[in-house]
Amino acid sequence: MPQLHVNLSKIKYNAMALQHMLSAQGVRMIPVTKCVGGDIKVREMLRDIGFSTLAESRLSKMTHHQKQPTQQDMMIKGALPNEIEDVVLKSQVSIQTEFSTIQALNDMAVQKGVKHAIYLMVDWKDGREGALTYEVVHLVKKIIKLKGIYLKGLAFNFMCFRPIQPTEEDIVYMNYFIESVERDTGVRFNSISGGNSSLLTLAMYTDLGRINELRIGEALFRGYETSYNMRLPYLYDDAILLSGRILEIKPRLDIEKRQAYMQAIVDVGQLDTVIDGIQPIESHLKIVGSSSDALMIDLGHSDYYQIGDEITFQLNYSSLAQSMHMPHIPKNYIEDKGIEQLINGFVEIKKNNFIKQS
Ligand SMILES: *Cc1c(COP(=O)(O)O)cnc(C)c1O
Repeated sequence: MPQLHVNLSKIKYNAMALQHMLSAQGVRMIPVTKCVGGDIKVREMLRDIGFSTLAESRLSKMTHHQKQPTQQDMMIKGALPNEIEDVVLKSQVSIQTEFSTIQALNDMAVQKGVKHAIYLMVDWKDGREGALTYEVVHLVKKIIKLKGIYLKGLAFNFMCFRPIQPTEEDIVYMNYFIESVERDTGVRFNSISGGNSSLLTLAMYTDLGRINELRIGEALFRGYETSYNMRLPYLYDDAILLSGRILEIKPRLDIEKRQAYMQAIVDVGQLDTVIDGIQPIESHLKIVGSSSDALMIDLGHSDYYQIGDEITFQLNYSSLAQSMHMPHIPKNYIEDKGIEQLINGFVEIKKNNFIKQS
């Protein structure tokens, strides 16, 4: 049976470390939980350590508590006409790009007697989504007339579609852009949600200008920034692992090399994860093939494996996201006393530095 091992202490540590680094830059971090399938325990833990706003791409995963008005759920994907009511009822803030959707959200918010906050997403150079830069002024002028909508600010995104990294020059030009939109519309933006984990490398060495929020998923759960796919050395890269068990060990023939090797069958397959994105923790093990629910592993020269032994894998983004969305895979939540102690060292920082809700 495949199993996910979710180390809540390591995720907590990563969250604290990232928050600490970003708050020194005047940037608020919004954890994005879509790549962990909106896991409830993870979301609760993040709320517990002070992240009042959590972002998700699925409405069904939102866990805002009605009784705590400071807690918010942010919807980071556009909405279809039939989802408008749910977006207004389940999320308090969302990222939008289409005026007809914003208009519909406004009408629904007015009908429900609430105000829905939005960021207007601007397509800078990723090409996936967002208003085109030349239509932003016009859109902002229309949005601020809507009674049910509060325009919190602008949002940007990088490296979701086109692999073009954000640079220091982008920051400069984004500042010019934001300020010219403000000048032309008379609106002062409260929040500039600058992007995702691909902005972390820039955030480490340069001032992010008007950007005062980042939406962080992958780095938090995998310990990698996503511009250059660099390991962030101060983060855990093994907070969430997948394991399976050995069902069979037999000698097999490598047809190409005409050599015998010991092959184990492990009960993790294409139905459980993206096989291309998993890597055995024990580096001498080699995945030689897969089927819908089994992996074939070359055990190398090791002779100590037995039937029933657990083999553990590290996960890339796709493998992590897919496995965490699989309801049939049981999750083993781990808390680590040693790491919790390290985290206590952050408590002072946490007290001082969590940027206030705006
Ligand atoms: C997924 C997503 C994020 C988070 O991206 P990571 O690379 O996981 O940090 C941020 N913003 C939007 C709009 C997203 O869809």
